[in-house]
Amino acid sequence: MRVLLVEDDAQLGDGLKAALKQEGYAVDWATDGEEGDLALRTEPYDIVVLDLGLPHKTGLEVLEELRKRGSDVPVLILTAQDTSKDRVLGLDLGADDYMTKPFNIDELCARIRSILRRAHGRAAPLLTHGDVEMDVAGRTVTLAGQTVEISAKEFAVLHQLLENQGRVMSKGRLEESMYDWESELESNAVEVYVHHLRKKLGKDLIRTIRGVGYVIDKEVS
Ligand code: CA
Repeated sequence: MRVLLVEDDAQLGDGLKAALKQEGYAVDWATDGEEGDLALRTEPYDIVVLDLGLPHKTGLEVLEELRKRGSDVPVLILTAQDTSKDRVLGLDLGADDYMTKPFNIDELCARIRSILRRAHGRAAPLLTHGDVEMDVAGRTVTLAGQTVEISAKEFAVLHQLLENQGRVMSKGRLEESMYDWESELESNAVEVYVHHLRKKLGKDLIRTIRGVGYVIDKEVS
């Protein structure tokens, strides 16, 4: 999952980026509103953490333009304590949630997970398919109840596929969910991770759609 963080406070941005990366997200950090806006116009994100008080373009302007373009990427806004008017405005402009500074980083991470769940129409915290179970918060994967060791990148690929069951994910889309601006893209990385995942979780879990990408089929109940 790929996060765009738009925050002009260097110390806070630095801490947030590190914490989100620790949670396994690919994180791009934009330090002003214009940079955030440009990133949102050019890259696909799974969620945006958006400060409101930003240079060049305010968070509310970024949000308003994002929704005007028809994008439904989830947005969590970060606001200073004294701006309840902005919070209301933000929610009315299409933000999904907000947090008031200073905030607890664990709570922020939990809210991000919750927003991502809801964005995919899911209330339960576990992602499942057959015998495979992913605990996004605990960052663990089990197969028939047994813990399976998987790397952070494998986790990222599996997470994207499980969260989008029934939808074919292109190789490019999977790559984008694993790599942020700073990461060096490895060639054939997606193929390699899918290969590992099949070895660990069964060869039928992930289906290759030749020339298009990969899919975990929806379970028929
Ligand atoms: Ca700010």
